[in-house]
Amino acid sequence: MLTNEHTTMEYVTLNNGLKMPLVGYGVYLVDPSVTERCVLDALSTGYRSIDTAQYYENEAAVGAAVRKSGVPREDVFITTKLFLSKPTSQRTKENVKGSLRRMGLDYLDLMLIHWPMGNDGEIWSAFEDLVKEGCLRSIGVSNFYPVTFDRLVRNASIVPAVNQIETHVFYQQRPMVQKMAAVGTAVESWGPLAEGMNGIFSHPVLSEIGAAHGKTAAQVALRFLTQQGIIVIPKSVHKERMIQNLETLDFGLSEDEMEAIRGLDTGHNLEGWPSDALRYEPSDFSH
Ligand code: NAD
Repeated sequence: MLTNEHTTMEYVTLNNGLKMPLVGYGVYLVDPSVTERCVLDALSTGYRSIDTAQYYENEAAVGAAVRKSGVPREDVFITTKLFLSKPTSQRTKENVKGSLRRMGLDYLDLMLIHWPMGNDGEIWSAFEDLVKEGCLRSIGVSNFYPVTFDRLVRNASIVPAVNQIETHVFYQQRPMVQKMAAVGTAVESWGPLAEGMNGIFSHPVLSEIGAAHGKTAAQVALRFLTQQGIIVIPKSVHKERMIQNLETLDFGLSEDEMEAIRGLDTGHNLEGWPSDALRYEPSDFSH
């Protein structure tokens, strides 16, 4: 258990026994030029899980920050995500080793397939080999829904440790949360603050509940997820907001409060991801 002035961290035990912090720090759209400073701030305030991706083009800065932080490598849970056109087993292995090289690391705690790429069985068996080689401690998927998830698992030796999917108060993903629980795959929320959309930070239901606990609407939105065991990786480049997002495990929502927030579910996702990403040509990306 990690306790510091901002949090007593809680962990999810993944299906391989590895413990992953319930609250981590995501760096999507954090410019590579400020990523190192942001990740150093996050580590100094008590975050011990960092979520990046090849697609974000800031892996090198994440790795540099971890190495400079003085936090022992084994105390930080590092996730990145594969982005590869025409994936084959060989290209997958080269691609993962590219991430390790860019980040200056010997191993990753979690490697995800960023979204279904069409040859996911081949990627997965390469991931499984890399687990055996010790390069990857756990492997998982992102943006996999019932059809793609079931297809992958049918031929897998290792069940994905994590499925990282868009999940927030406006898109609560109850069917996926139940399905993942049934197979032992942890749900990790991306966009846990709905990427700031739908007026989340001043939402009357969240604000009123927050006022009763001395917390902000953002903190209530995160607690709604973590109280269900859903891993969150909120992003902010501002240190005071990083701290605010970390200080979310020291209060609990009542069943009435949880029920009121359940009522905010629209059943719709936010627009533009990952279909937006699929407009990019993966071969543009150099490894
Ligand atoms: P988010 O829901 O974390 O929202 C980020 C926005 O909220 C930013 O504009 C930030 O300034 C603001 N914010 C953060 N904390 C705040 C606070 N306490 N008060 C007020 N405003 C606050 O959105 P996100 O960054 O898209 O998602 C989080 C992480 O999830 C990403 O950084 C990335 O690591 C991951 N992600 C993954 C995928 C995927 O396809 N796997 C897609 C998107 C994001």
